[in-house]
Amino acid sequence: MSWRRITLVAALCLALAAPGTAAADDPPPEVEPRAGTRAPAEVRGLSEPAQAGDPVAAAKAHLADPRYHIDPADLAPLGTVVDGADETVRFAQRHRGVPVFGAHYLVHFRKNGDRREVVGAGGRFLTELTVGTTPAVTRESAATIARTTLIRDRRAKESAKAETGELVVIPRGDGRLAWHVVLTGREPVAGRPLLLDAYVDAHSGQPLFAVDRLRAEGPVTGTGETVHGRSVELNVYQRADGAYELRDRARPMWDGTDGEILTYDAQGGDVNAWLGLGVPADAEPVRSGTPAFGSEHAASGAVDAHWGAGQVYEFYRRLGRDGLDGQGGTMYSVVDVTMEGEPIANAFWDGTKMIYGSGGGDYRPFASGLDVVGHEMTHGVIEHSAGLVYIGQSGAINEGVADYFGNAIQLEAFGIPMTDPHASLLGETLCKTLPPEQCAIRDLDDGRVAGESYLGMSIRADYGGVHYNSTIFSGALWDIREALGGASADRLVYKAVTEYMTPLDDFVDGRRAVESAARALGLPARDRLTVSRAFDRHGIKPGWERALRTDSRVLIDGITDPYAKPDVAGGRYVVSNSSPDVVEPSQILTGRVSGGKPVRLSENDRWNLMPATDGKSAAWVSFDATRQSYRVHTRPLDRSSPERLVHDGSGVIETVAIDGDTIAWDGVGPDDEHSVWVKRGDAPPVDVTAAAGVHGHAPSLKGGRLAYLKVWTEGEASRSAPAVLDLETGAETVVPMPQGSFSAVPTLTGRHLAWIYDENGDGRYGIMRAASDGTGTAVVVPDGPDAPTAYWFDANDTFATIGVWPDGTEVTNDILVKIHQVPLGGGTLQRFSCNRGMQDLFASGDGRTVVWLDGTDGNTDLVTRDRPAKRCRDGA
Ligand SMILES: [Zn+2]
Repeated sequence: MSWRRITLVAALCLALAAPGTAAADDPPPEVEPRAGTRAPAEVRGLSEPAQAGDPVAAAKAHLADPRYHIDPADLAPLGTVVDGADETVRFAQRHRGVPVFGAHYLVHFRKNGDRREVVGAGGRFLTELTVGTTPAVTRESAATIARTTLIRDRRAKESAKAETGELVVIPRGDGRLAWHVVLTGREPVAGRPLLLDAYVDAHSGQPLFAVDRLRAEGPVTGTGETVHGRSVELNVYQRADGAYELRDRARPMWDGTDGEILTYDAQGGDVNAWLGLGVPADAEPVRSGTPAFGSEHAASGAVDAHWGAGQVYEFYRRLGRDGLDGQGGTMYSVVDVTMEGEPIANAFWDGTKMIYGSGGGDYRPFASGLDVVGHEMTHGVIEHSAGLVYIGQSGAINEGVADYFGNAIQLEAFGIPMTDPHASLLGETLCKTLPPEQCAIRDLDDGRVAGESYLGMSIRADYGGVHYNSTIFSGALWDIREALGGASADRLVYKAVTEYMTPLDDFVDGRRAVESAARALGLPARDRLTVSRAFDRHGIKPGWERALRTDSRVLIDGITDPYAKPDVAGGRYVVSNSSPDVVEPSQILTGRVSGGKPVRLSENDRWNLMPATDGKSAAWVSFDATRQSYRVHTRPLDRSSPERLVHDGSGVIETVAIDGDTIAWDGVGPDDEHSVWVKRGDAPPVDVTAAAGVHGHAPSLKGGRLAYLKVWTEGEASRSAPAVLDLETGAETVVPMPQGSFSAVPTLTGRHLAWIYDENGDGRYGIMRAASDGTGTAVVVPDGPDAPTAYWFDANDTFATIGVWPDGTEVTNDILVKIHQVPLGGGTLQRFSCNRGMQDLFASGDGRTVVWLDGTDGNTDLVTRDRPAKRCRDGA
């Protein structure tokens, strides 16, 4: 983002608005524009008188000035922060009364006695919104759509509950009206509860995106034991019946009815009973017969949680904040929750309270790490201030700020100097036996630099790397704390978060927020230079993403559809994509692998996905939530005729295939079974897996044949194997695969059938081929302990291409999925591209060409190469 001086016209406008306030030798105010809106990102260096009295009214009066292009009627006050002479009013934008997602605007005053002047203003206010605010989609449909489409894991989907909340406007283009749906349940794979804020377009029914509300850290599960054995003073409460409970009313936030610190012990109860607003009506705080809370309360982590919450409260009180919400609202903690009967080695902020697992294995109860307590509770502070969205760079700043304060709270409480070798570690005290360096979840002083260390995760991984990229930002904050000292730096970062950052900030916006806070605090020039240099040193400067080099050619810059999946044939590709902010319904795009601008193939306004092509035409799926319908469309790639509807039904469709006038798809049919359908010409579609207990997945079409993955039961055992159906004769060949093996992605290439197989269920896959009629199988790459951990697969007549999770546990770009290729006749797998980030879903084209989604350069792009890389510098 460029920094530019105010224009002459705007300067004149300013002078008219505030006659005679700027002395001739004052530097002129600076205005930084924001793309896509007429409201500036920041106006600073102002010195204009403002109304006395109510700060909200004064701020609205100031923003009524035409230079802001803001209608004050569209501003809802979120809160006023007073920091010495500084007074900041934070507003949320409303569009026709509906909240605008992530749009906050702030006005900064300086007070001198009764006098108040405006010194700056900025944030996000979207001036180009015109979207209507009457929903076409019902709350019930929105709930169904969110549940069925925005949860990736199938088992998580089955268990999830959806509850529709209020309408919001998603700020893209002219705006998207969306329902906010809260999804709760569990994620069996990750072993943690599920709590998502999901958004569904209230006009089209398109599922937009989902944000993880749980701010979770840490790994593994097991059983728990005692905490560190330190004695601490606790603020507790004696009940009328004489018992004592973990209820702290001794803090300034207690107002006689509200403002307590309350700690509950779930006693191994399921986490889902505690998710949501507040605590269950019948829950009672941890109780003891004497004021001494004994070893059982230490073992559960209740003592640590209660004591830690008090430390967090006092830390923020020293920064001028009354509780996590800044309004003295009660702070809740719950310890010893489980999931499906197992202890959780984890902790998270659920939007209103802290929830801690009891650890297990080598882990102590998670409340025993004060930095963990501080980290999670800081998510509460952020939620009530900057509201940083938990995806991509804004999510990484959210994590980085939580780490910064979690760490600072621990250092302050225990008087640990920053020179202590373990000072910069997060969660280093959670382990019973592992040394701090190995136990720690993160190290703020890990020296990461944006251009060099940014993990190129696609949006499918850790929401674009919110945890994995956080120390790039928090590392700069740590350096600032080392240079300026805790007192000064904590105040600075706190001011940046509460008075300058807004929900969709990227790293460079975050840097600007800290620099603006430094200016507002009146830090001397030398300290401000220290701040700027800390960000420079961590590579956070405008244009940093340009330093990320790739060896591929970009076909589409900025793929934002989280369901995007490319296909290629005859030198042309197809892929779905949404708008830069993921709010437009995804459309099908096509272009030449040789280059040039992609063109839009789909003509409808529904949500379009999963395109396939045979090189002449494309087939794809569209989804309409208002009717709960899935459709299959086709259209020639040269757009010589309009989009054609070939199927309209209610069942979910997962993939499609096309070869000439034959189209196949798989999904869940009216019989609730996963089936494969084939439609030839104008004939109605035929379920080729109609037999009871037979399921089909992943159809592939070529030369009058259909291949698919056939799944059936034999006795008690589930079997799977590739099957090839001759569409003319109806003869089917099921490839003989050993019982207990698992096959995937059967692909017809013309001369061959190729697929991947796992004999022992270890997630490592070999590659096999057969003749195109399914006979004469041969191993291309054997399964076994050295076989690749497969992510995705495709093949043509001469080469098999496979996405591989590299081995390794240290989280660097080196362990993100990389594409490899091997001759279908046999040979060794060869690395295809040296791009260091995630090489996501792909399709193989002519010869050795591959087209794939690549996360390397700070966002996800559609890219291509036409031959494998000779040798990558990372040694792979
Ligand atoms: Zn976190």
